[in-house]
Amino acid sequence: MTIFDEVKERTDMRSIAEYYGFTPNRGNYICCPFHSEKTPSMRLYEHDYHCYGCGEHGDGVSFVMKLYNLPAKEAAQKINADFALGLDIGRSREPQKKTVTASQLLSYYQQWEKWAFLMLNGYYKLLKMWFEEFAPKTPDDEPYPLWVRACNELPKVKWFCMILIQGSDEERRSFFINHRGEVEGIAAEYHKYIGE
Ligand SMILES: [Zn+2]
Repeated sequence: MTIFDEVKERTDMRSIAEYYGFTPNRGNYICCPFHSEKTPSMRLYEHDYHCYGCGEHGDGVSFVMKLYNLPAKEAAQKINADFALGLDIGRSREPQKKTVTASQLLSYYQQWEKWAFLMLNGYYKLLKMWFEEFAPKTPDDEPYPLWVRACNELPKVKWFCMILIQGSDEERRSFFINHRGEVEGIAAEYHKYIGE
């Protein structure tokens, strides 16, 4: 039995997903962190996951590998530590490599944050414009769909921007984990309107 099998055996997929910030719905689905989506299509099974949207499939170790961009052994070590499994997986052979991985991950994350903020800020301005331009002039006017949409989406988009500007490291990290799919969905919508 490999160390990966042991980690798999001693954990269940739902707890792993929950620990790393996902909230499975009643059918045991979560929003897939590996492609952008608004409706959960990643099904959690006892020790595995399968995304019916993009085809991603794996177990707890591969989930953590992909989510944190870690080599398999380090992902197993992370789960071992986070879930206090007490398995002897040993230390990473090359501490230097770990530093590189961490900084690469950080730089990916910082780039994502920068991108997300610019996009959300642009979308926020667009919604603000719709909100002002398409506001009903009298109570009897049938509201424009774009105005309705602006009313619905402005609070959330504003909140997302505020987290990225003012949130603590922890809040921004959890935003990245929990809302990445949603933000990428917003980006797709936004780009439809600005024509990119
Ligand atoms: Zn997917």
